Amino acid sequence: MSERFTGSFTQQEPIPEEGIAAALEVLRHGRLHRYNVAEGELSQTALLEQEFAAMTGARYALAVASGGYALGCALRAVGVGPGDRVLTNAFTLAPVPGAIAALGAVPVFVGVTEDLVIDLDDLAARIGEARVLLLSHMRGHICDMDRLMALCSEAGVTVIEDCAHTMGAAWNGVPSGRHGAVGCYSTQTYKHMNSGEGGLLITDDADIAARAVLLSGSYMLYERHLAAPGPEVFERVKYQTPNVSGRMDNLRAAILRPQLQALPQQVARWNDRYRIVEEGLRDTPGLRLIDRDPREAYAGSSFQFLLLDWAPEAVQEVLARCAARGVELKWFGGAEPVAFTSRYDSWRYAPSAPMPASDRVLAGIVDMRLPLTFSLEDCAQIARILRAEVSAVFQQG
Ligand SMILES: *Cc1c(COP(=O)(O)O)cnc(C)c1O
Repeated sequence: MSERFTGSFTQQEPIPEEGIAAALEVLRHGRLHRYNVAEGELSQTALLEQEFAAMTGARYALAVASGGYALGCALRAVGVGPGDRVLTNAFTLAPVPGAIAALGAVPVFVGVTEDLVIDLDDLAARIGEARVLLLSHMRGHICDMDRLMALCSEAGVTVIEDCAHTMGAAWNGVPSGRHGAVGCYSTQTYKHMNSGEGGLLITDDADIAARAVLLSGSYMLYERHLAAPGPEVFERVKYQTPNVSGRMDNLRAAILRPQLQALPQQVARWNDRYRIVEEGLRDTPGLRLIDRDPREAYAGSSFQFLLLDWAPEAVQEVLARCAARGVELKWFGGAEPVAFTSRYDSWRYAPSAPMPASDRVLAGIVDMRLPLTFSLEDCAQIARILRAEVSAVFQQG
Protein backbone atom coordinates (compact mmCIF):
# COMPACT_ATOMS: atom_id res chain seq x y z
CA MET A 1 0.00 0.00 0.00
CA SER A 2 1.43 3.37 -0.95
CA GLU A 3 0.99 6.16 1.59
CA ARG A 4 -1.62 8.89 1.08
CA PHE A 5 -1.55 12.46 2.41
CA THR A 6 -4.78 13.55 4.09
CA GLY A 7 -4.14 17.20 5.03
CA SER A 8 -5.74 20.26 3.39
CA PHE A 9 -3.62 22.56 1.22
CA THR A 10 -6.02 25.44 1.80
CA GLN A 11 -6.44 25.29 5.59
CA GLN A 12 -4.77 28.19 7.39
CA GLU A 13 -4.13 28.44 11.10
CA PRO A 14 -6.78 30.02 13.33
CA ILE A 15 -6.57 33.72 14.19
CA PRO A 16 -4.46 34.12 17.38
CA GLU A 17 -6.58 34.40 20.56
CA GLU A 18 -5.22 37.89 21.12
CA GLY A 19 -6.58 38.94 17.72
CA ILE A 20 -9.95 37.36 18.47
CA ALA A 21 -10.14 39.26 21.77
CA ALA A 22 -9.19 42.55 20.07
CA ALA A 23 -11.79 41.92 17.34
CA LEU A 24 -14.49 41.29 19.95
CA GLU A 25 -13.63 44.56 21.63
CA VAL A 26 -14.09 46.42 18.34
CA LEU A 27 -17.41 44.62 17.78
CA ARG A 28 -18.56 45.50 21.29
CA HIS A 29 -17.84 49.23 20.97
CA GLY A 30 -19.05 49.32 17.37
CA ARG A 31 -16.51 51.81 16.01
CA LEU A 32 -15.48 49.77 12.98
CA HIS A 33 -14.80 52.62 10.57
CA ARG A 34 -11.17 53.67 10.85
CA TYR A 35 -11.98 57.35 11.41
CA ASN A 36 -14.73 56.63 13.95
CA VAL A 37 -12.78 57.15 17.18
CA ALA A 38 -13.76 58.15 20.70
CA GLU A 39 -12.12 61.16 22.34
CA GLY A 40 -8.40 60.45 22.66
CA GLU A 41 -8.68 57.01 21.04
CA LEU A 42 -6.18 55.77 18.45
CA SER A 43 -7.85 53.49 15.91
CA GLN A 44 -6.72 49.90 15.40
CA THR A 45 -6.07 50.74 11.74
CA ALA A 46 -3.84 53.71 12.55
CA LEU A 47 -1.92 51.59 15.09
CA LEU A 48 -1.48 48.77 12.56
CA GLU A 49 -0.03 51.27 10.06
CA GLN A 50 2.34 52.64 12.67
CA GLU A 51 3.51 49.14 13.61
CA PHE A 52 3.88 48.04 9.98
CA ALA A 53 5.97 51.12 9.16
CA ALA A 54 8.17 50.36 12.17
CA MET A 55 8.59 46.70 11.21
CA THR A 56 9.57 47.45 7.60
CA GLY A 57 11.54 50.60 8.39
CA ALA A 58 9.35 52.71 6.09
CA ARG A 59 8.46 56.33 6.91
CA TYR A 60 4.83 55.95 5.88
CA ALA A 61 2.29 53.12 5.79
CA LEU A 62 -1.35 52.87 4.72
CA ALA A 63 -3.77 49.99 5.32
CA VAL A 64 -6.33 49.35 2.58
CA ALA A 65 -9.09 46.99 1.51
CA SER A 66 -7.02 44.48 -0.50
CA GLY A 67 -3.63 43.78 -2.04
CA GLY A 68 -5.05 44.54 -5.47
CA TYR A 69 -6.33 47.89 -4.16
CA ALA A 70 -2.84 48.69 -2.80
CA LEU A 71 -1.36 48.08 -6.27
CA GLY A 72 -3.89 50.33 -8.02
CA CYS A 73 -3.51 53.00 -5.36
CA ALA A 74 0.29 52.92 -5.70
CA LEU A 75 0.09 53.18 -9.49
CA ARG A 76 -2.25 56.19 -9.24
CA ALA A 77 -0.15 57.79 -6.51
CA VAL A 78 3.00 57.70 -8.67
CA GLY A 79 1.06 59.29 -11.50
CA VAL A 80 0.10 56.40 -13.83
CA GLY A 81 -2.93 57.30 -15.94
CA PRO A 82 -4.91 56.13 -18.97
CA GLY A 83 -2.79 55.04 -21.91
CA ASP A 84 0.47 54.86 -19.92
CA ARG A 85 2.54 51.73 -20.41
CA VAL A 86 3.61 49.88 -17.26
CA LEU A 87 6.26 47.15 -17.22
CA THR A 88 5.30 44.06 -15.23
CA ASN A 89 5.95 40.32 -14.91
CA ALA A 90 4.70 37.75 -17.42
CA PHE A 91 4.59 35.30 -14.47
CA THR A 92 2.39 36.77 -11.76
CA LEU A 93 -1.15 36.68 -10.42
CA ALA A 94 -4.13 38.21 -12.24
CA PRO A 95 -4.60 41.23 -9.86
CA VAL A 96 -1.23 42.62 -11.01
CA PRO A 97 -2.02 43.21 -14.71
CA GLY A 98 -5.59 43.83 -13.55
CA ALA A 99 -4.52 46.81 -11.42
CA ILE A 100 -2.74 48.31 -14.44
CA ALA A 101 -5.67 47.69 -16.80
CA ALA A 102 -8.17 49.11 -14.28
CA LEU A 103 -6.48 52.50 -14.68
CA GLY A 104 -6.76 52.33 -18.45
CA ALA A 105 -2.99 51.80 -18.53
CA VAL A 106 -1.29 49.11 -20.60
CA PRO A 107 0.75 46.21 -19.15
CA VAL A 108 4.04 45.48 -20.92
CA PHE A 109 5.11 41.97 -19.94
CA VAL A 110 8.69 41.09 -19.03
CA GLY A 111 9.83 37.46 -19.14
CA VAL A 112 10.54 34.95 -16.38
CA THR A 113 13.76 32.97 -15.85
CA GLU A 114 14.26 29.36 -14.73
CA ASP A 115 14.79 30.75 -11.23
CA LEU A 116 11.20 32.08 -11.47
CA VAL A 117 12.25 35.72 -11.21
CA ILE A 118 11.87 38.56 -13.68
CA ASP A 119 14.34 38.26 -16.57
CA LEU A 120 16.65 41.23 -16.05
CA ASP A 121 18.09 41.02 -19.57
CA ASP A 122 14.58 41.22 -20.99
CA LEU A 123 13.85 44.09 -18.59
CA ALA A 124 16.97 45.92 -19.76
CA ALA A 125 15.85 45.50 -23.38
CA ARG A 126 12.37 46.92 -22.70
CA ILE A 127 13.12 49.48 -20.03
CA GLY A 128 12.72 52.40 -22.44
CA GLU A 129 9.09 51.45 -23.08
CA ALA A 130 7.65 52.74 -19.78
CA ARG A 131 8.20 55.07 -16.82
CA VAL A 132 6.97 52.61 -14.19
CA LEU A 133 7.69 48.97 -13.33
CA LEU A 134 5.14 47.05 -11.25
CA LEU A 135 7.47 44.30 -10.05
CA SER A 136 5.83 41.17 -8.69
CA HIS A 137 7.87 38.94 -6.37
CA MET A 138 5.70 36.09 -7.57
CA ARG A 139 5.61 33.08 -5.23
CA GLY A 140 8.22 34.80 -3.09
CA HIS A 141 11.11 34.59 -5.58
CA ILE A 142 13.19 37.77 -5.34
CA CYS A 143 15.43 38.73 -8.26
CA ASP A 144 18.80 40.47 -7.93
CA MET A 145 17.29 43.67 -6.53
CA ASP A 146 20.60 45.53 -6.61
CA ARG A 147 20.87 45.01 -10.35
CA LEU A 148 17.19 45.70 -10.93
CA MET A 149 17.27 48.97 -8.99
CA ALA A 150 20.45 50.10 -10.76
CA LEU A 151 18.80 49.41 -14.12
CA CYS A 152 15.63 51.25 -13.19
CA SER A 153 17.32 54.24 -11.54
CA GLU A 154 19.51 54.72 -14.56
CA ALA A 155 16.50 54.66 -16.88
CA GLY A 156 14.40 56.89 -14.57
CA VAL A 157 11.84 54.11 -14.07
CA THR A 158 9.83 54.18 -10.82
CA VAL A 159 9.52 50.77 -9.15
CA ILE A 160 6.42 49.58 -7.30
CA GLU A 161 6.89 46.24 -5.57
CA ASP A 162 4.11 43.67 -5.31
CA CYS A 163 5.08 41.89 -2.07
CA ALA A 164 1.97 39.71 -1.76
CA HIS A 165 4.31 36.69 -1.34
CA THR A 166 7.30 38.42 0.29
CA MET A 167 5.87 39.98 3.42
CA GLY A 168 8.57 39.21 6.01
CA ALA A 169 11.20 38.42 3.34
CA ALA A 170 14.31 40.43 2.43
CA TRP A 171 17.00 40.90 -0.21
CA ASN A 172 20.55 41.49 0.97
CA GLY A 173 19.30 42.51 4.41
CA VAL A 174 16.72 45.00 3.08
CA PRO A 175 13.05 44.06 3.69
CA SER A 176 11.12 43.24 0.54
CA GLY A 177 9.11 46.31 -0.40
CA ARG A 178 11.86 48.74 0.65
CA HIS A 179 13.80 48.85 -2.62
CA GLY A 180 11.23 50.51 -4.84
CA ALA A 181 9.30 53.75 -4.34
CA VAL A 182 6.31 51.82 -2.98
CA GLY A 183 5.84 48.35 -1.49
CA CYS A 184 2.40 46.70 -1.61
CA TYR A 185 1.19 43.75 0.48
CA SER A 186 -1.94 41.62 0.78
CA THR A 187 -3.50 40.32 3.99
CA GLN A 188 -5.95 38.10 2.18
CA THR A 189 -6.44 34.66 3.74
CA TYR A 190 -3.80 32.86 1.65
CA LYS A 191 -0.97 35.34 2.31
CA HIS A 192 1.35 35.80 5.29
CA MET A 193 -1.17 37.51 7.56
CA ASN A 194 -4.87 36.71 7.39
CA SER A 195 -7.70 39.24 7.71
CA GLY A 196 -9.86 37.63 5.06
CA GLU A 197 -9.30 40.60 2.78
CA GLY A 198 -6.91 43.50 3.23
CA GLY A 199 -3.73 45.19 2.05
CA LEU A 200 -0.91 47.49 3.09
CA LEU A 201 1.28 49.96 1.28
CA ILE A 202 4.56 51.56 2.38
CA THR A 203 6.71 54.36 1.03
CA ASP A 204 9.32 56.91 2.10
CA ASP A 205 7.96 59.53 -0.31
CA ALA A 206 5.74 62.09 1.45
CA ASP A 207 3.81 63.13 -1.66
CA ILE A 208 3.11 59.52 -2.70
CA ALA A 209 2.01 58.74 0.87
CA ALA A 210 -0.34 61.74 1.05
CA ARG A 211 -1.87 60.95 -2.34
CA ALA A 212 -2.34 57.30 -1.32
CA VAL A 213 -4.11 58.31 1.92
CA LEU A 214 -6.42 60.69 0.04
CA LEU A 215 -7.06 58.13 -2.69
CA SER A 216 -7.99 55.47 -0.12
CA GLY A 217 -10.83 57.70 1.08
CA SER A 218 -9.66 59.81 4.03
CA TYR A 219 -12.45 62.43 3.79
CA MET A 220 -9.87 64.99 4.90
CA LEU A 221 -9.47 63.16 8.23
CA TYR A 222 -5.85 62.41 7.46
CA GLU A 223 -4.70 63.91 10.74
CA ARG A 224 -5.96 60.75 12.44
CA HIS A 225 -3.15 58.77 10.80
CA LEU A 226 -0.01 57.85 12.77
CA ALA A 227 2.16 56.83 9.79
CA ALA A 228 1.33 59.58 7.27
CA PRO A 229 3.11 62.84 6.40
CA GLY A 230 2.28 66.17 8.03
CA PRO A 231 -0.70 68.38 7.03
CA GLU A 232 1.49 70.66 4.89
CA VAL A 233 2.06 67.77 2.46
CA PHE A 234 -1.68 67.09 2.23
CA GLU A 235 -2.25 70.80 1.51
CA ARG A 236 -0.14 70.39 -1.63
CA VAL A 237 -2.14 67.49 -3.08
CA LYS A 238 -5.60 67.41 -1.51
CA TYR A 239 -7.49 69.26 -4.25
CA GLN A 240 -5.83 67.24 -7.02
CA THR A 241 -6.42 63.74 -5.67
CA PRO A 242 -9.70 61.87 -6.23
CA ASN A 243 -11.30 59.70 -3.55
CA VAL A 244 -11.29 56.06 -4.65
CA SER A 245 -12.54 54.47 -1.42
CA GLY A 246 -10.66 51.37 -0.36
CA ARG A 247 -9.98 51.80 3.35
CA MET A 248 -9.22 49.08 5.87
CA ASP A 249 -11.55 48.84 8.89
CA ASN A 250 -10.75 48.46 12.59
CA LEU A 251 -12.00 44.89 12.78
CA ARG A 252 -9.46 43.65 10.26
CA ALA A 253 -6.69 45.77 11.75
CA ALA A 254 -7.44 44.31 15.20
CA ILE A 255 -7.05 40.80 13.80
CA LEU A 256 -3.80 41.71 12.04
CA ARG A 257 -1.86 43.47 14.80
CA PRO A 258 -0.98 40.33 16.80
CA GLN A 259 -0.19 38.50 13.56
CA LEU A 260 2.30 41.21 12.64
CA GLN A 261 4.14 40.70 15.93
CA ALA A 262 4.32 36.96 15.19
CA LEU A 263 5.42 37.34 11.56
CA PRO A 264 9.16 36.61 12.00
CA GLN A 265 8.40 33.35 13.87
CA GLN A 266 5.82 32.39 11.23
CA VAL A 267 8.34 32.97 8.45
CA ALA A 268 10.82 30.70 10.26
CA ARG A 269 8.14 28.01 10.55
CA TRP A 270 7.34 28.28 6.82
CA ASN A 271 11.01 27.96 5.99
CA ASP A 272 11.38 24.84 8.15
CA ARG A 273 8.63 23.28 6.04
CA TYR A 274 10.04 24.58 2.77
CA ARG A 275 13.49 23.12 3.47
CA ILE A 276 12.09 19.69 4.31
CA VAL A 277 10.27 19.54 0.98
CA GLU A 278 13.35 20.85 -0.82
CA GLU A 279 15.64 18.26 0.77
CA GLY A 280 13.13 15.51 0.11
CA LEU A 281 13.05 16.37 -3.60
CA ARG A 282 16.76 16.95 -4.13
CA ASP A 283 18.18 14.92 -7.05
CA THR A 284 14.80 13.58 -8.14
CA PRO A 285 15.26 12.48 -11.76
CA GLY A 286 13.53 14.88 -14.18
CA LEU A 287 12.69 17.42 -11.48
CA ARG A 288 14.45 20.76 -11.25
CA LEU A 289 14.51 22.62 -7.95
CA ILE A 290 14.50 26.42 -7.96
CA ASP A 291 17.89 27.86 -6.97
CA ARG A 292 17.65 30.41 -4.19
CA ASP A 293 20.23 33.15 -4.08
CA PRO A 294 22.11 33.34 -0.74
CA ARG A 295 21.22 37.06 -0.61
CA GLU A 296 17.53 36.19 -0.59
CA ALA A 297 15.83 35.73 2.81
CA TYR A 298 12.58 34.21 1.62
CA ALA A 299 9.33 33.22 3.28
CA GLY A 300 8.61 29.70 2.03
CA SER A 301 4.81 29.75 2.21
CA SER A 302 4.58 27.90 -1.09
CA PHE A 303 6.84 25.57 -3.04
CA GLN A 304 7.59 25.42 -6.79
CA PHE A 305 9.61 23.08 -8.95
CA LEU A 306 10.10 22.70 -12.69
CA LEU A 307 9.31 19.75 -14.93
CA LEU A 308 11.23 21.49 -17.67
CA ASP A 309 10.67 20.34 -21.27
CA TRP A 310 8.27 17.58 -20.20
CA ALA A 311 5.43 16.60 -22.51
CA PRO A 312 2.16 18.15 -21.24
CA GLU A 313 0.58 14.69 -20.93
CA ALA A 314 3.41 13.54 -18.67
CA VAL A 315 3.00 16.60 -16.41
CA GLN A 316 -0.71 15.92 -16.28
CA GLU A 317 -0.04 12.34 -15.29
CA VAL A 318 2.15 13.49 -12.40
CA LEU A 319 -0.62 15.85 -11.28
CA ALA A 320 -3.23 13.09 -11.46
CA ARG A 321 -1.08 10.53 -9.63
CA CYS A 322 -0.19 13.00 -6.89
CA ALA A 323 -3.84 14.08 -6.55
CA ALA A 324 -4.81 10.42 -6.11
CA ARG A 325 -2.40 10.34 -3.17
CA GLY A 326 -3.76 13.54 -1.63
CA VAL A 327 -1.11 15.96 -2.90
CA GLU A 328 -2.73 18.94 -4.60
CA LEU A 329 -0.51 20.55 -7.25
CA LYS A 330 -1.16 23.48 -9.55
CA TRP A 331 0.39 23.77 -13.00
CA PHE A 332 1.07 26.98 -14.90
CA GLY A 333 1.43 25.14 -18.22
CA GLY A 334 -2.19 24.07 -18.72
CA ALA A 335 -4.05 25.18 -21.86
CA GLU A 336 -6.70 26.89 -19.71
CA PRO A 337 -6.05 28.78 -16.44
CA VAL A 338 -7.30 26.78 -13.44
CA ALA A 339 -7.86 28.66 -10.16
CA PHE A 340 -4.93 31.11 -9.89
CA THR A 341 -2.71 29.66 -12.64
CA SER A 342 -3.31 32.28 -15.32
CA ARG A 343 -0.35 33.67 -17.29
CA TYR A 344 0.37 36.63 -19.54
CA ASP A 345 -1.35 35.08 -22.54
CA SER A 346 -4.50 34.42 -20.48
CA TRP A 347 -4.96 38.19 -20.00
CA ARG A 348 -6.35 38.91 -23.43
CA TYR A 349 -7.39 42.47 -22.52
CA ALA A 350 -3.64 43.17 -22.55
CA PRO A 351 -2.26 42.05 -25.90
CA SER A 352 1.25 40.58 -25.87
CA ALA A 353 3.71 39.09 -28.34
CA PRO A 354 4.66 35.45 -27.74
CA MET A 355 7.55 34.99 -25.29
CA PRO A 356 9.07 31.59 -26.19
CA ALA A 357 11.73 31.49 -23.45
CA SER A 358 9.13 32.34 -20.79
CA ASP A 359 6.61 29.93 -22.30
CA ARG A 360 9.12 27.12 -21.85
CA VAL A 361 9.52 27.98 -18.15
CA LEU A 362 5.79 28.55 -17.54
CA ALA A 363 5.00 25.20 -19.17
CA GLY A 364 7.13 23.51 -16.52
CA ILE A 365 6.07 25.32 -13.32
CA VAL A 366 4.42 23.14 -10.70
CA ASP A 367 3.23 24.90 -7.57
CA MET A 368 1.84 23.98 -4.18
CA ARG A 369 0.96 25.78 -0.99
CA LEU A 370 2.63 24.99 2.32
CA PRO A 371 0.16 26.17 4.97
CA LEU A 372 1.39 26.28 8.57
CA THR A 373 -1.23 23.70 9.50
CA PHE A 374 1.14 21.13 7.90
CA SER A 375 3.48 19.47 10.36
CA LEU A 376 7.12 18.83 9.49
CA GLU A 377 6.26 15.15 9.07
CA ASP A 378 3.44 16.12 6.67
CA CYS A 379 6.02 17.96 4.56
CA ALA A 380 8.38 14.98 4.55
CA GLN A 381 5.51 12.75 3.46
CA ILE A 382 4.47 15.14 0.67
CA ALA A 383 8.06 15.15 -0.60
CA ARG A 384 8.16 11.31 -0.57
CA ILE A 385 4.95 11.14 -2.60
CA LEU A 386 6.13 13.76 -5.10
CA ARG A 387 9.49 12.09 -5.47
CA ALA A 388 7.96 8.66 -6.11
CA GLU A 389 5.38 9.88 -8.65
CA VAL A 390 7.70 12.22 -10.57
CA SER A 391 10.34 9.47 -10.77
CA ALA A 392 7.79 6.87 -11.90
CA VAL A 393 6.41 9.03 -14.72
CA PHE A 394 9.90 10.21 -15.72
CA GLN A 395 11.15 6.63 -16.03
CA GLN A 396 8.19 5.64 -18.24
CA GLY A 397 8.86 8.58 -20.57
C1 LIG B 1 -2.87 37.83 -3.77
C2 LIG B 1 -2.00 38.58 -4.68
C3 LIG B 1 -2.21 39.93 -4.97
C4 LIG B 1 -3.40 40.73 -4.56
O1 LIG B 1 -3.98 40.46 -3.40
P1 LIG B 1 -5.57 40.54 -3.10
O2 LIG B 1 -5.52 40.92 -1.68
O3 LIG B 1 -6.15 39.21 -3.39
O4 LIG B 1 -6.14 41.64 -3.96
C5 LIG B 1 -1.28 40.57 -5.76
N1 LIG B 1 -0.22 39.92 -6.27
C6 LIG B 1 0.01 38.62 -6.05
C7 LIG B 1 1.20 37.99 -6.65
C8 LIG B 1 -0.89 37.90 -5.26
O5 LIG B 1 -0.68 36.60 -5.06
